[in-house]
Parts: sequence; C-alpha cells; structure tokens
Amino acid sequence: MHGPDVPAGPEGPDGLDGIGRLDARITGCRACPRLVAWREEVARTKRAAFADQAYWGRPVPGFGPHDASLLIVGLAPAAHGANRTGRMFTGDRSGEVLFRALYDLGLASRPDAVAADDGLTLHGVRLTSPVRCAPPANKPTPAERDTCRPWLVTELELLRPTLRSVVVLGAFGWQATLPALTAAGLSVPRPRPVFSHGTRVALADGPALYGCFHVSQRNTFTGRLTPAMLRAVLHAAATEAGLPVRPNGAADQEGGEADS
Ligand code: SF4
Repeated sequence: MHGPDVPAGPEGPDGLDGIGRLDARITGCRACPRLVAWREEVARTKRAAFADQAYWGRPVPGFGPHDASLLIVGLAPAAHGANRTGRMFTGDRSGEVLFRALYDLGLASRPDAVAADDGLTLHGVRLTSPVRCAPPANKPTPAERDTCRPWLVTELELLRPTLRSVVVLGAFGWQATLPALTAAGLSVPRPRPVFSHGTRVALADGPALYGCFHVSQRNTFTGRLTPAMLRAVLHAAATEAGLPVRPNGAADQEGGEADS
C-alpha cells in the first residue's frame, strides 16, 4: 500500500526534513497499475529525439524550496517531459512557458528548464501536481486522481506553516486540489468555488487560492493563455505570498512568443 506516513519537523537521521522524506517516498509509489505500466513503457520506448537519454520513468515529486510560500499545482507529469527528466515541468513545452514567466517575475534563476541537473532554482515557489505519474493522453482517471491525493494532502500539510498562495493550473487540477486542501485541514468554501482563469478564493486562516488556465500547448498555442495573462496571475499570487517580484517581468512583450 502507498500512503504518506511522513512526520513534519526538523531533519531526521537520514538528513531529510518532512518534505524531503515525502519526496523520497513518492518516487517509489506503484499504487496505480495502469500508470505504472504506462510510465515505464514510455521510459522504455522513448521518443526518438530523446533516444540516447535515460528516462526517469517513476513518480515525480514536487520541485522547489521546502518552505515555499507559493505553490503552483499542475495536472500530471508529461510523458516525455517530467517523466523523462524526473523534475516537475522540466523538459516540455508547458514548462518552457511556466519557467519563462517565473523567471520574468524574478521567481526562477533561469528562464528555461531542460534537465534535473541544470542548476535551476526557484525562489519561494514550489511546483507540484495532484497526479505524480504520467498518464496516457494526459488523462488520469478519477480513481487514479483520488489514489494519488494523499501525497498532495501531505505536501500541503508540510508546507502549511509558510504557504500563503496556491495557484492551480486548469480545471482538472482545480477539481483535484479542492478536496486535497480540505483533507489538509483548510477551509474551502461551500459550495465549492468554480474554476475560472484569474479567480481568487480566500481560504479562512489559510492561503489564497488562484485559478489560472493550464500552460498546456493547446492553451498557449491558441492564445487562450498568453504570457501576460500567466504573469498577471503569478504576480498577484506571489505578491500575496510576500515574494519580491519584478513588476512586469523581464520580457514584457505583449503578443510575443508564448515561450523562449
Ligand atoms: S499516480 Fe500517484 S498514487 Fe498512482 S502510482 Fe503514481 S504516485 Fe502512486
């Protein structure tokens, strides 16, 4: 059985704190047979462009500081992105858009993310997802989403002392995150707030919750989500989280490319 049993608190004898232990446990999870088979099959067969690379092929833990005040929640790892590199949003087009925006706002040390050892660091921001294994067609089943929830619940519990804002990318992530917030002891309004881009929901005695269209290729290529729209949501959430942000980003280019 999988499931978090991860105490918070200071570093243990293994040198890991609560988040570190959580991340280590996540990478060994095999609770969803369909996703285990898929992530490993993709890692074996690979995409031709990455044929010379060793794929990660395992669950992907969160990425970013363990005392982050802003949490960004996506959907699930991409088959040839995070499932290849082993780091959230790293190595795919969605990540290019997201990291560019974080860099423009001064929240990332570099504008791109190509590999887990590329030296990229995030400032006060952590990236995670409600499903940790790459799903076929980017579509986890409701059962897989629910099976994976305890990992996110524990991550929220461990981050809670410092967490001030949560940005959820897309409606699927929104649906998955609301019950995780509740399970983590946070007060989500009833009826549950509906996802929309730019929406902000205040959780009593907890972080503010922001909705943002997902940084998927479908959204960014069509202009449904522009770099300016993404920056605006991240700017608001980071400011509320108390993070120093650049006003309009380093690349304030309206109508420009969605990524670098
Ligand atoms: S999706 Fe989550 S619960 Fe399912 S195998 Fe992956 S890490 Fe485990």
